[in-house]
Amino acid sequence: MAFNKAPNIIGLRVLNDNVIWLWVKDKSVVVIDPSVHEPVIKYIDENNLYLKTILQTHHHSDHIGGTKCLIKRWPNVNVIASSKEKKRIPFQNISVEDGETLNILGAEVKIIEVLGHTSSHIAFFLKGKNPVLFIGDTLFSGGCGRIFEGTYRQMYSSLERIKSLPKNTLIYCAHEYTKSNLLWALNLKPKDQDIKNKLSEVKKKLSLNELTIPFSLDEEMKINLFLRAKNLEEFTFLRANKDLWV
Ligand SMILES: [Zn+2]
Repeated sequence: MAFNKAPNIIGLRVLNDNVIWLWVKDKSVVVIDPSVHEPVIKYIDENNLYLKTILQTHHHSDHIGGTKCLIKRWPNVNVIASSKEKKRIPFQNISVEDGETLNILGAEVKIIEVLGHTSSHIAFFLKGKNPVLFIGDTLFSGGCGRIFEGTYRQMYSSLERIKSLPKNTLIYCAHEYTKSNLLWALNLKPKDQDIKNKLSEVKKKLSLNELTIPFSLDEEMKINLFLRAKNLEEFTFLRANKDLWV
């Protein structure tokens, strides 16, 4: 079943630059990668909601750190994670694999494996007229995740998979890294007008204390050098270059 209305998704800024996403429908909440629990519980309580499901994109502590305490508070919560991560995400009670489709809050959600950042990273794709992708640490606005456990080839293929999704897909990543990613990109492509425009737009949002996420796939393909890379060789050069940029 596809849904037509754009989902109601709220971002909670936590730690240095993490964003926890809450997808809310009626009184039910789905939380994506809860790095911490307090702000999630606070938001849910203040709005008289109920935590139904936790989606885990990968095992890093700044994505699963709050999960245990959320389970304590809502013992019946569904915790959805990759079946390959039963050891590192031990509290999962719904284990999923690439290509599987689930019904969550009345929406059809497809599991897309996006390897590279870790050896089992998954993304959650909400189908419909207003598609949404919860991408964790695989793609950021202006950047992509570091390759910790996978290979350059895997990460390149993961980005190719993302590029094949509908162009109006709204992408929700787990970190607010946009400005520093664009500064890096502009350093490599100082004359690129699309990146320049995006940077000034991002600076404006940040000065108003707004998030620069989500972003549309459409727009991102114009300004993200990793998505613009024409082949594995170019991608590898960019990723290695970015690793040295702090
Ligand atoms: Zn990570």
